[in-house]
Amino acid sequence: MTDKINLLGLSCIEMEEFFLSLGEKKYRAHQMLKWMHIHQADSFEQMTDVGKKLREKLSEIAEIRAPEILHEGVSRDGTRKWVFKVDGGGAIETVFIPDGRRGTLCVSSQVGCSVDCSFCSTGKQGFQRDLTSAEIIGQVWLASRSFGPRKNLGEHPITNVVMMGMGEPLLNFDNVVRSMRVMKDDLAYGISKKRITLSTSGVVPMIDRLSDELDVSLAISLHAPNDELRDKLVPLNRKYPLAELLAACRRYSDKRPDKRKSITMEYVMLKGVNDQPEHARQLVKLLGNLPVKLNLIPFNPFPHAGYERSTRSDILAFHKFLNDRGVLTTVRTTRGDDIDAACGQLVGDVMDRTRRSERWQKEVFLRAGDSADGAVAS
Ligand code: SAH
Ligand code: SF4
Repeated sequence: MTDKINLLGLSCIEMEEFFLSLGEKKYRAHQMLKWMHIHQADSFEQMTDVGKKLREKLSEIAEIRAPEILHEGVSRDGTRKWVFKVDGGGAIETVFIPDGRRGTLCVSSQVGCSVDCSFCSTGKQGFQRDLTSAEIIGQVWLASRSFGPRKNLGEHPITNVVMMGMGEPLLNFDNVVRSMRVMKDDLAYGISKKRITLSTSGVVPMIDRLSDELDVSLAISLHAPNDELRDKLVPLNRKYPLAELLAACRRYSDKRPDKRKSITMEYVMLKGVNDQPEHARQLVKLLGNLPVKLNLIPFNPFPHAGYERSTRSDILAFHKFLNDRGVLTTVRTTRGDDIDAACGQLVGDVMDRTRRSERWQKEVFLRAGDSADGAVAS
């Protein structure tokens, strides 16, 4: 770690303030954002339209520093996965899934997670620390650089970002919001608000704050149709039970400028736990009047998880029951769409993570071209 200010983590307004504090004009901030995020510069020397004196000053007090890549895997079908080392010894993972003209980057927000959902290996490892905004946007920056130079915004392979990697993004609110501002900024990545999705286990007050701060798509990790079961699966439910969570969803949706946009409810399919006809009936009642779509995620097992994935026929029956009753439901079965689940499986220490990543890569190679129940990370 250094005392230098890491410019990667600054939003446009903060960058303007930074340059004003140096006695420079605001437009320098815009130059800097473009150099870093569009031209992918990692040093001030490259910035030819910035005077030598200012470049020297910047080198003394500032830096452009992303997390260090520990491991990078590229599968035959273009799926990429990075393991990054972060200051303090932890590691995080970022995944890129190409899907036709769409390219989705799954970004981490914390090292570990304190919410401790019973089916999630990130939760099992406990919480280490929040990521800084430079570490969050650094994942996008590094992924973007891996595709080579950017010619213009339209050609950028990262069209979508999902905050569905390691960690609970709403428990690292300021850094996550700051990073999403940079993702949206035309001077940086220019990703539209519809294509940035924040997934949360349900930190109710922060859902309200999010709608005050910026407009992005929201996904809720629902996973259970009643409080009794959700208390067990997502312990945060004891603090913010379903009625409060769904009321916050309603408020979020009402406040969005585009009211037609629905909220995604994620529902991990756990054999014999939350996948029975009774649960589907309860879900219809619970979600019937809300502007939501339900996304069924087949559970991704990991050692000592204590859960199994629901059978394919149970998932399809669940899916049909809900759709027939007007709850728009999809099943996340293709590999590209399995990115969240893969993210939900991030584990422990650096070595462990690197080994798992290598194994994952092998599996992707083995199953490339298998379009059915795709190459799911294990
Ligand atoms: N903390 C946030 C975002 C990261 S988790 C959240 O919980 O929403 C991203 C998604 O992966 C969540 O819906 C999470 O519930 C799901 N997930 C976690 N572990 C999983 C597993 N083993 N199998 C399938 N999905 C999982
Ligand atoms: Fe944390 Fe999300 Fe995993 Fe729950 S599912 S432990 S909130 S990362």
